[in-house]
Amino acid sequence: MNSLLKKTIFALSCMATSVTFAADAPHWTYDEQNVWGEIPSSLTPPGLPPYTECGLGQKQSPVDLGSTKLVASTNALKMQYLAEPLVISNNGHTLKVNTTTGSLNIGNEQYSLLQYHIHAPSEHVLNGKTYPAEIHFVHSTPDGKLAVVGVFIEEGKVNPEFQKILAHSPNQVQDVTVQGVTINPINLLPSSSIDRNKFFLYSGSLTTPPCTEGVNWYVLKKPIQLSKTQISTFETFYSDNARPNQPLNGRQVLEKQ
Ligand SMILES: [Zn+2]
Repeated sequence: MNSLLKKTIFALSCMATSVTFAADAPHWTYDEQNVWGEIPSSLTPPGLPPYTECGLGQKQSPVDLGSTKLVASTNALKMQYLAEPLVISNNGHTLKVNTTTGSLNIGNEQYSLLQYHIHAPSEHVLNGKTYPAEIHFVHSTPDGKLAVVGVFIEEGKVNPEFQKILAHSPNQVQDVTVQGVTINPINLLPSSSIDRNKFFLYSGSLTTPPCTEGVNWYVLKKPIQLSKTQISTFETFYSDNARPNQPLNGRQVLEKQ
């Protein structure tokens, strides 16, 4: 192949996706989750706190949501998610979609949707029942308060919006901006706004290092559906990327029906 042809093919392939390498390459594994808290700070990324909370924290996530206390009313979740260009990070632990436009209002607090990503199987469980997968929508206030909405995935119909993630995710650790494709994460939530407001609520942590606590978790009771093929396709990227359940240590899981 002559060099001009090579350059042309390279240019065409770059038009399809603009590629940058992910900054957060793997430095911990799910096989060694029992020692996350012991990873020395010399090996953790600059700018992140040490991972000690993974081992010493008393309010860790995920948990079994099975024993709950019913509450008559809590602040409603008001998601305003919008279509935006698809930006995917294969970060070595999951497929993550980075976002800049979505928001979540809870009472008087406004959160921005930062990213959403997938675990298979689910991290949260219900009386020991595990779902095939779970999506986490990660939100933050301007001063760094975190709220994560968890959505269980069960096997069922094809979800066309999720298919965009599967179709465009890089096989290797890198970030891609997919030209000409938009995604709206509202289509990865239960379709009924009533179902978007039936949830389990508790105070926990990030489920990956640095396992930071103070995260308000809202796990929706209604799962969404992906086809069997979509679930198994995600598992060709990542499977068993789920942290085991952590003790409640006296925490109460609230349930909004
Ligand atoms: Zn997660």
